[in-house]
Amino acid sequence: MEKTGLSSRELIELAERYSAHNYHPLPVVISRAEGVWVWDVEGAKYMDMLSSYSALNQGHLNKRIIAAAKAQLDALTLTSRAFHNDRFGPFCEYLCKVAGQESTLLMNTGAEAVETAIKAARKWGYSVKGVAKDRAEIITCENNFHGRTTTIVGFSSEEQYREGFGPFAPGFKMIPYSDVEALKRAVTPDTVAFLVEPIQGEAGVIVPEDGFLKEAAAVCRENNVLLMLDEIQTGLGRTGKMFCCEHEGVTPDVLIVGKALGGGVFPVSGILARKEVMDVFTPGDHGSTFGGNPLACAIGMEALKVIVEEDLPARAAESGEYLMERLRAIESPHVKEVRGKGLLIGVEIKETSGTARPFCEKLKDLGILAKETHHQVVRFAPPLVITREEIDWALPRIEQVLAGRVE
Ligand SMILES: *Cc1c(COP(=O)(O)O)cnc(C)c1O
Repeated sequence: MEKTGLSSRELIELAERYSAHNYHPLPVVISRAEGVWVWDVEGAKYMDMLSSYSALNQGHLNKRIIAAAKAQLDALTLTSRAFHNDRFGPFCEYLCKVAGQESTLLMNTGAEAVETAIKAARKWGYSVKGVAKDRAEIITCENNFHGRTTTIVGFSSEEQYREGFGPFAPGFKMIPYSDVEALKRAVTPDTVAFLVEPIQGEAGVIVPEDGFLKEAAAVCRENNVLLMLDEIQTGLGRTGKMFCCEHEGVTPDVLIVGKALGGGVFPVSGILARKEVMDVFTPGDHGSTFGGNPLACAIGMEALKVIVEEDLPARAAESGEYLMERLRAIESPHVKEVRGKGLLIGVEIKETSGTARPFCEKLKDLGILAKETHHQVVRFAPPLVITREEIDWALPRIEQVLAGRVE
C-alpha cells in the first residue's frame, strides 16, 4: 500500500480541519496492523487494548477473514435484497445455529440492529401480545448504550448524548441497572420488551449482580415481555462465553449482535429471535440496502467460524482471568476497582486521582492503546487472540502507569 508521505502531526491536522469533531481520539495515527499490534505512520508499535470497542475479537487482519473477504471481492459484493445471493442463506443458518435461535434479520451497524429490535418488539406487541395501537412501552436501563440514532439517544441517560438532539420518540421507560424489583414495578400490560446489556460496556464495564439476568428473564416470561439482550459488545466470545447471557443460562427472546460479527473488516449486525417474533416482519416492513449483502455474509461467516473453531470464548475466559488477576495485584494509589468478565475489563480510577484520560495518554506513550470510557474507567479489551506472552509484555507497562511511576 502506498504511503501518504504525511507525518502523524500533518494527518491529525487534516482530520481536525476537514472532519466533524465528534470524537476526541488519542493522538496516534495508525497505518498498519496485525493481530493485537498496530503501527503508526512513523513506524512506532502499539498494542491495541481496545479492539475498536470489541469489533476486533479475532485480531487485526485475521488471515482467514481477510482471505474470505478477498475471495468474495472477486465474485460478488452487492445484490441488495431485491434478489437473493448465494452467501446469505448459509450465513443466516450458521448464525442461527451458533446463537441457538430460529431466525435472523441482518443489518450493518449496531444501532441499526437495535432499531430493528425495537421495531420487532413493537410490532410483536401489537400483533401478537395485543397491545393497543401506539401504546407499546419498552423498558431500558440507566447508563445504557445502544447506539446513536435519534430514537436510541432519546432513551439514553447520558445528558451529552441527548443535549441538542430532541425532540425524542416516546414509548421508553428507564429503570436502574441490575434492579429486578424496579423492573417488576415498571412492567405494565403495555410493556412489550426489556432492552438491556448483559454488561454495560460504554458505561464503564458495569457488571450486574449475579442472577440479575436470570431473574429479569423470569419477570419477562411471567409478564409476556420480550427480553432483548444487546450483546453487540459482550457477545461473540468477549466475556468468556459465546454470548454473555450464557453465564447465567439465559436465552433471550431477541439477541442483538454486531461489532465482531464483521471480524473488524466490515460492518455486519443483526437480530436473532424465535419465528413467532421474527414473523411479524412482512415484505416491505423493514429493510436495508446493504443489510445481508454477499460481502458482509462471506466475511461474517468466516468471522464467526474463527470464533467457533478457534474457541475464542475459552481463550477470552482464560486470558481474561489471568489479566484481571494481575491487574488486581497491582498496587496503585489511583485504582478504585478492577472489574469485568473475560477480556472485557474496566479499571476504575479514583476521582481524587483525576480522570482516566491522562492514564490512557501515558499508556500510549508506553506503547499501549486503551481508551477511557465514562471519565473514570480505563477499558482493557484486547483482541481475544492475545497470547500470554503479549499480556506479559503489557502488564509491567500498565503497572508503571497505574502505580504512578510515569509522569
Ligand atoms: C457499539 C455498540 C452499539 C452501537 O453499534 P454501532 O455499530 O456503533 O452502531 C450498540 N450497543 C452496544 C452495547 C455497543 O457496544
